[in-house]
Amino acid sequence: MSNLKSWILEQSDGEPVLAVIISPGDNDICPVCKNYVFSWEANCPDCGTLVDKFKFLNIPVLTWEEALPELEKEFNSGYGISGCPAIYAYTKTWVIFVSTYDGSTSIKRIPRNPTANINPIMPGGG
Ligand SMILES: [Zn+2]
Repeated sequence: MSNLKSWILEQSDGEPVLAVIISPGDNDICPVCKNYVFSWEANCPDCGTLVDKFKFLNIPVLTWEEALPELEKEFNSGYGISGCPAIYAYTKTWVIFVSTYDGSTSIKRIPRNPTANINPIMPGGG
């Protein structure tokens, strides 16, 4: 099992996390049982609830402390559904985010500002 808190701290180089944005990403969240639901499914496979497809409203910018309850949740990072939300976590130097490939998740980061001698990445591939 994995959790986003430990992944983010690994990528932050010890810098404080200044802000976090959390969303269901490509998945949906069941409003009843709070499980992640594949975006192409209309109903939650666990409880059958019709899942709200208009979820991208009112997504706040959180402090690290406000985000921690979500970031501390354990999830399976292997193939299948992502199991964790999409996030942007901001430090002074980095923007840290989740990458997924067929639901297998990992953590990535890019410089927050234009930076020389950085090798750009192409996350999402095998
Ligand atoms: Zn449900």
